[in-house]
Amino acid sequence: MNTPKFLTIILLFIFCGTKLYAQQNAVVNYCIQLDSLNKTVTNNTIDRKTATKKLTHLITQIDKNAGFNSPDAWTFPLKGYKANAIGGVKGNGYFDKGYHFLDGNKHTAHPAHDIFITDRNQDTFDDKTLKPVEVLAVTDGVVVSCTPQWDVGSALRGGKCIWVYHPGLNLFSYYAHNRQLFVKTGDVVKRGQKIAEVGRTGLNAYKKRSPTHLHFSAFRLVNGLPVPFNPYQNLIKASTL
Ligand SMILES: [Zn+2]
Repeated sequence: MNTPKFLTIILLFIFCGTKLYAQQNAVVNYCIQLDSLNKTVTNNTIDRKTATKKLTHLITQIDKNAGFNSPDAWTFPLKGYKANAIGGVKGNGYFDKGYHFLDGNKHTAHPAHDIFITDRNQDTFDDKTLKPVEVLAVTDGVVVSCTPQWDVGSALRGGKCIWVYHPGLNLFSYYAHNRQLFVKTGDVVKRGQKIAEVGRTGLNAYKKRSPTHLHFSAFRLVNGLPVPFNPYQNLIKASTL
């Protein structure tokens, strides 16, 4: 190969590398902004119009810069468990009537499925394996909000929780009540990747009457706001790890 050709290839590599790095940095930045926006929504300290506008802008940018589209197929969000661990009868634990994302921590309804682990003594360890149960990302995505801290006495219902956005699918997945998180805002996650461990954090999940579980929700962005949909069929069809 002659020298000019070689130099062109090297420069092209540097250019593409720099562009990719800038895009990844931009995504992290948008995710951090989305995380703080989400926290103002949770605390009800932002007006609805501003929140909707900001959210639409940030998701548009994340979609544009993520550099990938998430696959449609799902992995079941609890390692070692399958659909029969979903609470209720045929998914009737899900009800979204009256739920509004902008109601934050004060929301009503239960637009989610609680997925239970076997933990009779409520130590958050699986009774069979005596180990924590891994929470897995249902498909590829970007972590757009994390709450890594929760203390007993806090009124926050989700406890230690994670929001993942899945580019190209217009889909959010939400994982609550974890004991520990293993990702941070801005991280890219792969389908089936361990993102947390099942726990008992959150105002009600901490109470003795609540069996240890993952609270799992799915949302689509409709008119700038996450609107819940019932992911029961996705969970039933998901492959298991
Ligand atoms: Zn729940």
